[in-house]
Amino acid sequence: MANIFEQQVNDFMAKVIAKNPSESEFHQAVHEVVESLIPFVEENPQYKEAKILDRIVEPERVLIFRVPWVDDNGGVQVNRGFRIEMNSAIGPYKGGLRFHPTVNLGILKFLAFEQVFKNSLTTLPMGGGKGGSDFDPKGKSDNEVMRFTQSFMTELFRHIGPNTDVPAGDIGVGGREIGFMFGQYKRLKNEFTGVLTGKGREWGGSLIRPEATGYGAVYFAEEMLKTRGKSFKGTTVTVSGSGNVAQFATQKVNELGGKVVTLSDSSGFIYDPAGIDDEKLEYVMWLKNVKRGRIKEYADKYGCEYVEGQRPWGIKCEVALPCATQNEISEEEAKTLVANGCICVSEGANMPTVPEGVIVFLENEILYGPGKAANAGGVAVSGLEMTQNSMRLSWTREEVDAKLHDIMINIHATCEKYGKKDNGFINYVDGANIGGFVKVADAMLAQGVV
Ligand code: GLU
Repeated sequence: MANIFEQQVNDFMAKVIAKNPSESEFHQAVHEVVESLIPFVEENPQYKEAKILDRIVEPERVLIFRVPWVDDNGGVQVNRGFRIEMNSAIGPYKGGLRFHPTVNLGILKFLAFEQVFKNSLTTLPMGGGKGGSDFDPKGKSDNEVMRFTQSFMTELFRHIGPNTDVPAGDIGVGGREIGFMFGQYKRLKNEFTGVLTGKGREWGGSLIRPEATGYGAVYFAEEMLKTRGKSFKGTTVTVSGSGNVAQFATQKVNELGGKVVTLSDSSGFIYDPAGIDDEKLEYVMWLKNVKRGRIKEYADKYGCEYVEGQRPWGIKCEVALPCATQNEISEEEAKTLVANGCICVSEGANMPTVPEGVIVFLENEILYGPGKAANAGGVAVSGLEMTQNSMRLSWTREEVDAKLHDIMINIHATCEKYGKKDNGFINYVDGANIGGFVKVADAMLAQGVV
């Protein structure tokens, strides 16, 4: 960041922090965006006069509600439910629901804020939102998950709708949870509509939606690699996480001739130098999606190394795909990645790199694709699911995958347009922030002070 804007960024952040105390992840997400945007807004005073930045950091609406439910032992449980309706300038609020014990207002506001820019980058007509609960699905029975999600939807249903707000999955919310929520929404509204995305394919879901975030992050990495005349062929890749995003990122890397050597969960990571081929990946999918077990079991089965309590960033690789959660690459880990020869980081997760780590990647001019660009494939196919629901038809796998691929290529081009520096280096952080901002800001200008 050019020094002349530092004071403005600090002043802006002081206001945001005072107004939103103890929401550190939200501060982090806003800071990263305004560092790119303040210089841009100075050059484009129409945004400054209309106070677009002050408006864009203020959610249009925040809903917080009680979610009571009864566990398998007959005990009463209470969780907290949230929906952040951040910005609807370019379409209905759109974004996932996260069920995880760490969920709080600040985390969901950071995710909703990122979603506004991400959704804009897809070029599809979607505003930004996010929601969820501090409910922990880990160790819960299917019946407990059903009772919780039904209670959650019993409040949420009155705030959402296919033209108002369209939730989807995120951490802890997959096909099972979307199914239960869809069933409860339909029952309460007596309406079969595309109110959620990530639905089962027999009842309005899109093909490729489960694959989309992981595939998209790899397509984005492929575009970044191309700018340096490289590809995935013969490349060693480290992946974190072992959920939906990590699984399909691994599958796509395999297809493109790369080798994924790590996966992780909150307990530790596995290191398989031979590579996680499609057969082993099938086991991971069963382990995580059906058995709902721990990644350590992979190491036991295939006799490879398991490192307890650590993340995979110490393993040598050319490409790193963080696909677990926020702040999972520290400054030290970013330095280690670069020192070990990593030239490309494509973020399948939202905000996985701490700000100091981002600086390390940018100063070393590696190919660094921030989440709001690199993982936009998931919500992009959600947008395509909405289109198919409205048209009451469904596209083939090939059609959806081709559209997803095109969207990722386009997002890369937008980042290049807004992020290319005089020396030819593409700063994808600036590119994604400014590229995502322009469309939303212009819509806000056109719609007046609302
Ligand atoms: N939770 C995903 C994301 O972070 C997907 C959201 C959606 O499909 O609406 O973008």
